[in-house]
Amino acid sequence: MEQKPHIGILPSPGMGHLIPLVEFAKLLVHHHDFNITCIIPVLGSPSKAMKAVLHALPTTIDHVFLPPVILEEEEMKGPRFEVQTILTLTRSLPPLRDVLKSTRFSAFVVDPFGIDALDIAKELNISPYIFFPTNAFALSLIFHLPKLDETVSCEYRDLPEPLKLPGCIPIHGRDLAEPFQNRTSESYKMFLRIAKRFRLAEGIIVNTFMGLEGSAIKALLEEEAKNLPLYPVGPIQSGSSNQVEESDCLRWLGNQPHGSVLFVCFGSGGTLSYDQTNELALGLELSGQKFLWVVRTPNNESADAAYLSDQTLYNNPLAFLPKGFVERTEGQGLAVPSWAPQAQVLSHGSTGGFLTHCGWNSSLESIMQGIPLIAWPLYAEQKMNAVLLAEDLKVALRPKTNKNGLIDREEIAKVVKGLMDGEEGKKVRNRMKDIKIAAEKALNVDGSSTKTLSKLASKWKNHSSF
Ligand code: UDP
Repeated sequence: MEQKPHIGILPSPGMGHLIPLVEFAKLLVHHHDFNITCIIPVLGSPSKAMKAVLHALPTTIDHVFLPPVILEEEEMKGPRFEVQTILTLTRSLPPLRDVLKSTRFSAFVVDPFGIDALDIAKELNISPYIFFPTNAFALSLIFHLPKLDETVSCEYRDLPEPLKLPGCIPIHGRDLAEPFQNRTSESYKMFLRIAKRFRLAEGIIVNTFMGLEGSAIKALLEEEAKNLPLYPVGPIQSGSSNQVEESDCLRWLGNQPHGSVLFVCFGSGGTLSYDQTNELALGLELSGQKFLWVVRTPNNESADAAYLSDQTLYNNPLAFLPKGFVERTEGQGLAVPSWAPQAQVLSHGSTGGFLTHCGWNSSLESIMQGIPLIAWPLYAEQKMNAVLLAEDLKVALRPKTNKNGLIDREEIAKVVKGLMDGEEGKKVRNRMKDIKIAAEKALNVDGSSTKTLSKLASKWKNHSSF
């Protein structure tokens, strides 16, 4: 009997990478009859959320854990999550080689942090691919980076003019991804190295679609990524087929009027400072609007503090809310600790707005449901996403920071009311409806993303019959 072609997938640590890669794997299995093995590198031990996603995989998708990597205390304390991610992947390469050798893989897919693993794939004659989990805008920056690094001598945030990436909205240096804000940092150097190695791949799969970023995608194909096949297959739906147990927040949502609730969540790991948590609580209260807030334990050091850790293991985040807040807002809102089934919350009829850190999965999940946004970027490439969502696509409102670097309660209340009940909210809501329709079109049987995925699948199938 002829064997199905087998694809290996390596998601780097962190839910923002695991979720879209696993959903991509499901598409390959359900629509193109591949065998898939997800090879999972782990920092410390797998989080509860990670285990839940892997546990819910269909039996046709296999997964193996690589031996857990333990970083030294210094390595855990100092660097940003990007550096910890790369260290984890680098130390996982020897056992990864054994897994890749043990099966006849036709193609091997990594996210950008896993780029060094592509050397092993090449050596073993397995077709190497990159899955880029964000958008064409950020991909353009990656392609452009080596040239930018050679031609610009100052910090990008000090550039007097916005940067014009081909086919993209102009962007100020201060809004570029976080690692690009300090060119002497370890994380910037890592990104530059990754960017210079992108052409190791035989193709790049990107989680966006023509109807959303047509001009950026075309410009990439014609200029920056010339001769390197690009596969825009998005939006990849997260958690679409996952079984979710009836949770408190879904039950609470069930008792709220249609479209009345603002969902507030900063991705899988975004954290606010103590002062900002306080302002957000008081701002939500002041707005008088209904809310469902996934609360994280505040952290004054770094906004990505929780990204690579299992937050359910920490102290109760609700204990950090202002005194009497939970009691005063009973009936108006619900605060839940650490984690909520976001995809299900966004698809619930009672949800009418989303205050988000602009992680790309969160942005696409909202687009798929036609839910307008309040853009509150924190780290990674989230400021770029906020510019794309608020200024280019015009599906988000963006609150202003005061002179102390905080978004204060009055500003929060104003923007929340504006989105849920104001004229500006109506505009972004209508825009979002149009984009939702464009997303559905991309995923139709003859839609651009469906056709692109079929093209990629045929290529992999032909390759495996050699
Ligand atoms: N997520 C979730 N519940 C939460 C927080 C996040 O299900 O309480 C999921 C969310 O639906 C998305 C992913 O985690 O699929 C977060 O990815 P995103 O790219 O938005 O942000 P990141 O966590 O990578 O910063």
